[in-house]
Amino acid sequence: MDFYRLSAHEICRKVKSGEITARETIESSLERINSLEKGLNALITRVDERALEKADRVDRMLSAGEDPGLLAGVPVVIKDNMCVQGIRTTCASRILGDWKPPFTATVVAELEKEGAIVLGKANMDEFAMGSSTEHSAFGPCSNPWDPDRVPGGSSGGSAASVAAGYAPISLGSDTGGSIRQPAAFCGTCGLKPTYGLVSRWGLVAFASSLDQIGPFARSIEDIALTLQVISKPDPRDSTCNPSKRPDYQSVLDQSSLKEKKVGIVKEFMDYDIDPEVREALEKTIEVARSEGAEIVELSLPVMVRYGLATYYIIAPAEASSNLARYDGVRYGISSEEEDLMDMYLKIRGDGFGEEVKRRILTGTYVLSSGYYDAYYLTAQKVRQIMTSEFKEAFSRVDTIIMPTAPTPAFRKGELLDDPIQMYMADVFTLPINMAGLPGLSLNAGYSRKGLPLGVQLIGPKWGEMQLLAAASVLERSFGPSLIAGGDQ
Ligand code: GLN
Repeated sequence: MDFYRLSAHEICRKVKSGEITARETIESSLERINSLEKGLNALITRVDERALEKADRVDRMLSAGEDPGLLAGVPVVIKDNMCVQGIRTTCASRILGDWKPPFTATVVAELEKEGAIVLGKANMDEFAMGSSTEHSAFGPCSNPWDPDRVPGGSSGGSAASVAAGYAPISLGSDTGGSIRQPAAFCGTCGLKPTYGLVSRWGLVAFASSLDQIGPFARSIEDIALTLQVISKPDPRDSTCNPSKRPDYQSVLDQSSLKEKKVGIVKEFMDYDIDPEVREALEKTIEVARSEGAEIVELSLPVMVRYGLATYYIIAPAEASSNLARYDGVRYGISSEEEDLMDMYLKIRGDGFGEEVKRRILTGTYVLSSGYYDAYYLTAQKVRQIMTSEFKEAFSRVDTIIMPTAPTPAFRKGELLDDPIQMYMADVFTLPINMAGLPGLSLNAGYSRKGLPLGVQLIGPKWGEMQLLAAASVLERSFGPSLIAGGDQ
């Protein structure tokens, strides 16, 4: 049987009941990877041996009558900006060389504690900067639905892995859309949790006030399960909320949209988006209405007008500071230059790709003494206004529906020479990071060319329960995500 088709829930249940072994599950995933990876390039590093050893450990625990956990035998793929002890972590950059972290990120440790099995590290845009997974020192990743198109980014490898059936779940990070936009392009579900819900300890920082880790899966049920496992309080991340998390899985079965208010953003409804993306959006709104929701029109003018511009000041500013640590001394590649400045120039010049350099330049510029007030400080003030705008909106509605991205997956190379157009791919997702809110992308069907079409649901701060509840209602209409090339 093709175990790679199973959901995380099904795998866990079957492994625990003895119907299949964890080893068989992993072997099926590895076979799937072997047959597709040459064309996809979704993984930077594979750890087949380690995965099989971990699977045997789960099987041994079960024969000894022990409980391996909530994700017993479930294969997972981890974006290559999260540390796993002893496994090369590259952030898809040359600068880290073969650096092997001496520790494991909290989220990965939590997954492994529950019996999940890491298959490998996923391809991404270098240091999570990009929207297409083309800015990778390890070559671009392909979209499993059409190899000539991008899988989205920056967590493109994580999205492609789930869409192609390598694993039922994967982890990505989202600073401005990097989970939701690739989820939409690859036809999976992807959740960016509220800022501070999931520990960032062990995640390589891009823009620390925006970064959040979250899951990809082919069903909301698996998203809720993965969130349950990774969203524990963590004293090692001071921005991680210390309170107890609710039971995210409890809302799924009985959820309904009756008496719920669903907001739509007037300015985004008028936005120039692909007609098929618009159709999917309108269909989603109709489904919400027919499930009993009251549709409320909202206006978020500051977010719509200034969201992108403020993000592209704040994110590069934080990135330029976070990336200062890659100096050829502490991590990764080094050089023989005698002079310190020559060494920095050589290491950072050769080690970073073009997009990362562009961000460092922008970030350094907006933080420089002459421009700090004009750019950085002003952007922070606008960010505050945007956050209040959302707060006010959520005093009127329970959930907001909007597009995830303006278009379906675009062609490889199409936007590579046009950074501003590439940045526009996240126009609907990055304001959500600026306000620290939870956002989820859900597959709402396919274009006539067979490309997945995503829609985005937004919840209030710490509103994951209501977000998952609303998503599960819509999913009942749309059905769970399909596996690309899965002959369903
Ligand atoms: N595409 C956006 C950027 O390039 C968002 C990236 C992300 O969420 N990591 O900054």
